[in-house]
This record gives sequence, structure tokens and C-alpha cells, in this order.
Amino acid sequence: MLVQAYNILRSYNSGEARQDALKGCSFSIDDGDFVAITGPSGSGKSTLMNILGLLDRPTEGQMSFCGKNVDELSVRKRAEIRNKEIGFVFQSYNLLQRHTAFENVELPMVYAGIGKNERRKRVFELLDTMDLKARHSNYPRELSGGEQQRVAIARALANHPKLVLADEPTGALDSERGNQILSLFQKINQGGHTVVIITHDDAIAARAKRILRLRDGQIIEDFRPNGADELDPLKPLAPTIGPKLPPLVLR
Ligand code: ADP
Ligand code: MG
Repeated sequence: MLVQAYNILRSYNSGEARQDALKGCSFSIDDGDFVAITGPSGSGKSTLMNILGLLDRPTEGQMSFCGKNVDELSVRKRAEIRNKEIGFVFQSYNLLQRHTAFENVELPMVYAGIGKNERRKRVFELLDTMDLKARHSNYPRELSGGEQQRVAIARALANHPKLVLADEPTGALDSERGNQILSLFQKINQGGHTVVIITHDDAIAARAKRILRLRDGQIIEDFRPNGADELDPLKPLAPTIGPKLPPLVLR
């Protein structure tokens, strides 16, 4: 089990009003799964991703990552886990504009203390996988949207993360480019990474192994489309949602 989340609640205090972005979400994510989190705008998808990515802490509830309770860890320890084990992809790519494709992919490895030769080898491998080898010395503004997103995906994979989290990764692309990006995530998943993508596009979500649907800060559906369960009869079914989930035992 990669992630276990129990009764996650997240509220924001904006002035007088309290906004409950997540209202008690319980779920777990298996190692090697490919989950699409879907739901209308404002349903809490990005809030959930920030919590899954250890960028944010729930107001209430418990979360474990790789069997470790991460709620009580220091900011520094959480950043360390994040840099090593989690890769992020965003709708707007979030590349550093003054750095080349090569440097953007290299940077997480610099932070992780990986030596120069190893970094160089890995950057070229990743750019090659993303079909971008010829673009290594280009700056983001010289690349198309699809190319920039592929650089961002290469960067997310730099430190061999267990979990790849993508918030609306196809949101800024036309449907053909979007489908190509989704095929890359499927390939990444087949390579052993657990993938969680956020999308409000049902056609994109349908290509994942499992769909978690949010509405108003709650999980309203949790299922495997396309008979994904039949493919692997030994694999336990996704846990049922909400109060049916047994309480989490955290060490
Ligand atoms: P989604 O990604 O599904 O569009 P979000 O997670 O961004 O939804 O937001 C869920 C709810 O929480 C929305 O009502 C949004 O307005 C609110 N919200 C998100 N971030 C903040 C914040 N920093 N401060 C106050 N309210 C927020
Ligand atoms: Mg969002």
C-alpha cells in the first residue's frame, strides 16, 4: 500500500467564512496503480493532490505514505520524502523559463545530491524516452505546449519517484496532444511508478485503472473502469469509500 488516507478534512479560513474543501475522505492507493481523480471545478481535487503530495497537511484526519505516518513529520523531513519519492506535473508545466530543457530535468537531481556524470546520463535517458533528445538545449519558450509538458514529465521522473502526481496535465492541450500525454503516463505506470492524475475530462479519466470521483469535498464514486479488475483476479478490490473503511492503524 503506497498511500492510506483516513477521514481527511481540509478547511480554509477566508475571513469570517470557513470553506471545507475536503469533508472526510478515506481511501488507499496501491503500489503500481493508476488513479484518476475527477470531479467538477471546486470539488477539492487540487486540495487533495496537495495533501497527497505532502505540500499541504489535512486539518483533520490521518495519512500514511509508504507505510509511514507523515502527519507529524517535520517540514524538512516531508520535503525530503517529496523530493525523493514524489514527482509533480502541473497544467501550466511550471518550467523554469531561464533554464534549458536539460537544466529543468537536471535540477531535482542537483537537489538530491546526484553527481554530474550520473545526472547527465539520466537527463539524456529521460529526454530520449520523452522523444525530446534534440530539444535538450532549448528554452521552454522555444518549445510547444506538448513538448513543455514532456519536459515537465521528464523532470518529475528524475529521482525515480514512487508516486507521480499530475494536476490537470492535459488541461492546456488539444485532445490529440492530451491523448499523447496520457499514453506517456500509461507507459510510466507500466514502468512501475504509481500514477495519480487529476482531470475533469471523463475521456481522460476512463483511461486510468481506477477512478475516484469527488463532489463537494467528498468521494462519491470509486471504481475501476473497463473491467480493469477482471485483468487481475488476485488483486483485491479497491476499498469501499467513507465510513465503511476500517480505522487505520498508524505506527
Ligand atoms: P478543484 O481543484 O477541484 O477545482 P480545489 O481543491 O482547488 O478544487 O478547491 C476546493 C474548494 O476549496 C473550492 O471551493 C475553493 O474555492 C476552495 N479553496 C481552495 N484553495 C483555497 C484557499 N487557499 N483558500 C480558500 N479557499 C480555497
Ligand atoms: Mg484544481
